[in-house]
Amino acid sequence: MRTVRTIAELRRALAPARDARLRVGLVPTMGALHDGHLSLLGAARAECDLLVMSVFVNPLQFGPSEDLAAYPRDEARDAALAQEAGVDLLFTPAAEEIYPPGFATSVVVRGVSERLEGEQRPGHFEGVATVVAKLLNIVAPEVAYFGQKDAQQAIVIKRLVADLDMPVRIEVCPTVREHDGLAQSSRNAYLSAEERARATSISRALERAAQLIARGERDSRTAVAAARGELAAHDLEPEYLEIVDPDTLVPVKRVERPVLVALAARVGRARLIDNVIATPSTNGVEPS
Ligand code: AMP
Repeated sequence: MRTVRTIAELRRALAPARDARLRVGLVPTMGALHDGHLSLLGAARAECDLLVMSVFVNPLQFGPSEDLAAYPRDEARDAALAQEAGVDLLFTPAAEEIYPPGFATSVVVRGVSERLEGEQRPGHFEGVATVVAKLLNIVAPEVAYFGQKDAQQAIVIKRLVADLDMPVRIEVCPTVREHDGLAQSSRNAYLSAEERARATSISRALERAAQLIARGERDSRTAVAAARGELAAHDLEPEYLEIVDPDTLVPVKRVERPVLVALAARVGRARLIDNVIATPSTNGVEPS
């Protein structure tokens, strides 16, 4: 594995692969690697000839009162895990490399960016779309890998590459969870033992909603209320907990097709997000 820190170096390192028409895969991350990231690397390694992983804690996607300074960073550990996972090129640019003086361009994806996370974190998806557009331009991969854990992010990026005619396939990989259901996240490191225990109610709440829908519940309000109950039992109040269309993120009142159940909640100083796809039973029987 080779580590490169500049765009010029990365482009030089990629040139022979391009000449040889190798399939280049990109896994963009913010580091603090966990099994979720490793699953993306595994999927990419299986499909691609040359695997690039970026580690960049993108300041543009953090709001002024968010955790940019505190975000966990461990370059040596990330590099060791990347090497083990078969990464060929590790791209770890400094902020000034990505946003040099005079940088003035921003990528705004309207619509799908404006709901859920977008409402709670103004400017977040503008930062995400801008950095992902840059990374896709720099690496020009055939495939780029993202996690279903950040479902809205994946939707925003699919919209971005479709709208800007970027020749890349976006692959979305399943959410990797801890043994008790908690979605793996770099931000789980912020949790105390007591908070970590309460945080399991996040995935349980989502599962509860999905289970009701699978058993015939069609009213999304009922499913949301049950999920809220699960959170409340652990003293958690969601920032949002919604049932939406998995492609457009438009709220769904009556569940007739697979839906996305998405939530965000603060547990201590960690802000955690998670989601599941809930599929309604086909017999349409409502629970009595
Ligand atoms: P991050 O480092 O948090 O920006 O995440 C980098 C990529 O890993 C994104 O595409 C995330 O959606 C994905 N990811 C993060 N956590 C998980 C997880 N638990 N399971 C699957 N993918 C994940």
